[in-house]
Amino acid sequence: MKLLVVDDSSTMRRIIKNTLARLGYIDVLEGGDGLEGWAALDANPDVEMLITDWNMPEMNGLELVKKVRADARFKDLPIIMVTTEGGKAEVITALKAGVNNYIVKPFTPQVLKEKLAAVMGVSE
Ligand SMILES: [Mg+2]
Repeated sequence: MKLLVVDDSSTMRRIIKNTLARLGYIDVLEGGDGLEGWAALDANPDVEMLITDWNMPEMNGLELVKKVRADARFKDLPIIMVTTEGGKAEVITALKAGVNNYIVKPFTPQVLKEKLAAVMGVSE
């Protein structure tokens, strides 16, 4: 299963990738902002999960989510937003844009594991 992790923090990308690796997901693409994320997804439409930050330069995560959802290839792609924007209004905005689940930083590996399972529709 191929995943795409988009975050402007290389440290955060590494943390997420390490967590994913521990869960058995090793086929992980990366993007440093929304534009890079979109380019990676456009070139790899077989990606089965998008994990994206919100606050990023060039194109932010919310814009990325809207762009992804506007493309018929990705209308059902599971998307998890990982962000410091933990307010209720932000969460609602992200969900309305098409995010399937939401993780507020900082998070534990267990939280990422649970959200992944929830989005993929499997019980642990
Ligand atoms: Mg950021």
